[in-house]
Amino acid sequence: MGTDIKVLGYVAAALLLFMTLMLLLTVRQGARVRGVTNWVRSTLAVAAGIGLNTLQDTLPQFLSSPVANVLVVAGVALAAFGTYEYRYRRTLSLRWMAVASFALLLVLVALREYSGARIVLVALLTGSIATWHAWTTLAGSSLRPHAKGVKHSRFGLPHAIMVLGLATVATVVLVHAGDALAMLNGSATGTVPFGGPQRTLLLLYIAVLAGRLLLLIGMVLVLVDEMANELRTLAQRDSLTGVLNRRGLKDAVSALPLERSSLLILDLDHFKAVNDDLGHDRGDQVIVLLARCMQTHLPPDAVCARLGGEEFCALLPNVEGSEAYAAAEALRNAFARESLALEHGRAHTVSIGIASYDIEVTTLSHLMRHADEALYRAKREGRNRVVRHTAARTA
Ligand code: GH3
Ligand code: MG
Ligand code: MG
Repeated sequence: MGTDIKVLGYVAAALLLFMTLMLLLTVRQGARVRGVTNWVRSTLAVAAGIGLNTLQDTLPQFLSSPVANVLVVAGVALAAFGTYEYRYRRTLSLRWMAVASFALLLVLVALREYSGARIVLVALLTGSIATWHAWTTLAGSSLRPHAKGVKHSRFGLPHAIMVLGLATVATVVLVHAGDALAMLNGSATGTVPFGGPQRTLLLLYIAVLAGRLLLLIGMVLVLVDEMANELRTLAQRDSLTGVLNRRGLKDAVSALPLERSSLLILDLDHFKAVNDDLGHDRGDQVIVLLARCMQTHLPPDAVCARLGGEEFCALLPNVEGSEAYAAAEALRNAFARESLALEHGRAHTVSIGIASYDIEVTTLSHLMRHADEALYRAKREGRNRVVRHTAARTA
């Protein structure tokens, strides 16, 4: 093995280990995607394979060749499995991969005397797996807009960087397999590009390493991207009830047409007393129950949010006046009934104010103001009731 290639082998193993560390650090920061465990296993396996192969002057041939090659192929496959798990939201069993790795080890040992055949086999395997990996990563892109069974189909810059890395690896390795095959058949032209076999091999290694590093950079960016998305979603949700918070409501409503819509504002009755009599934890249970009732008893496209404390609101798209009143009444009754089933067995009630879109009430804040006025009336008139805002009543 040439000194240049040896140095490159150590550099590659070290860089891959460093990238594994980057992946692990990103995971420690809270970034999680399904499949990341196989991504980490993959980098470790490839780094170990390259390391063993580079130490071929000091290690037994069994370790530096068949075992090293199996580690590299298994590593390349694990990376593809990780991406498949991430894209398809499915966990794959590694049992068959372990069996296949063992079978490959036996074949490579049997091919001990045939280095050309070994090279062709390993290059064909890694090249095909990298091609399949690139294809899986492309799900959701313009090349595969309707990939079947894909749960995570968003395709962005991180995925494009992964595909670029994989395409580099696949192309270089498959061309190398073709060359090696031609040599085996004795049909090689005899001219080696790039000034000799050592230099060609060196360039091949550099290209594969660059592709592999691009793939890993893409993976780290995928993790960071997913974490940013998760934080964005968390920032829009109320942690106690899981419904939207004020900010989430504003974002969700900004994407909806308000015409023919109604807005409900709900406030639990005498809730201070509930907290005082039953304690804060039981009070929380009642708040959670109200959110659940809103999600189950309002129309499925209702946008439900917790405005703060024991106050909620729901935007009902395409539900006007009397229909909104009927939906609110149904919710009020369902909540009173279901609250009895809570372990403390006390009935709780909610007051609801409704405002509907009209020519003069066209914005969310205007709808909220009117629904609030109606809620205030519901409280004044005795609570546990639904009141619709009308221009005549507030006049
Ligand atoms: P009203 O019928 O007029 O609405 O009377 P109320 O007692 O419900 O009055 P108000 O709406 O002013 O009281 C809200 C209470 O809700 C005050 C606070 O103790 C309680 N609260 C606010 N946030 C939470 C929470 O997250 N959990 C619990 N358990 N209680 C909360
Ligand atoms: Mg209240
Ligand atoms: Mg209140």
